[in-house]
Amino acid sequence: VNARNDEEASAKAAAANVDSGAPTIFDKIIAKEIPSTIVYEDEKVLAFRDINPQAPVHVLVIPKFRDGLTQLGKAEARHEEILGHLLYASKIVAEKEGILDGFRVVINSGPTACQSVYHLHLHVLGGRQMKWPPG
Ligand code: IMP
Repeated sequence: VNARNDEEASAKAAAANVDSGAPTIFDKIIAKEIPSTIVYEDEKVLAFRDINPQAPVHVLVIPKFRDGLTQLGKAEARHEEILGHLLYASKIVAEKEGILDGFRVVINSGPTACQSVYHLHLHVLGGRQMKWPPG
């Protein structure tokens, strides 16, 4: 297995993953029908640990009510408040996780960016030296 094959495989998987608007696994996480490790929660957002962490700290922050926000690329003016709230919640997560000195917030929007779950989510990553540019 080399890096090029990995990249091709993940690009292919991402391209096959379209924004159908169907419910996602995150609905079950919000409903607590499947377990997750919750780091922060309020009435509007839920933050829980990524099942496949890419850094010592890797938390996903999601809106509890998707309201059409399957991806950032579908955002409309009415979403401004929740988008701001998600970003501020990411800072609270970084603070709780002890990585305020350096952390990264990532949003993958659409297949070309390798989005795999079509319920908007912010990745909060840290706990190691991050590199730039990302892949
Ligand atoms: P995306 O590739 O930006 O769409 O990110 C989706 C993320 O969701 C990936 O990092 C996955 O590891 C993560 N993920 C998928 N299913 C679960 C789950 O059941 N629990 C926690 N994280 C998940």
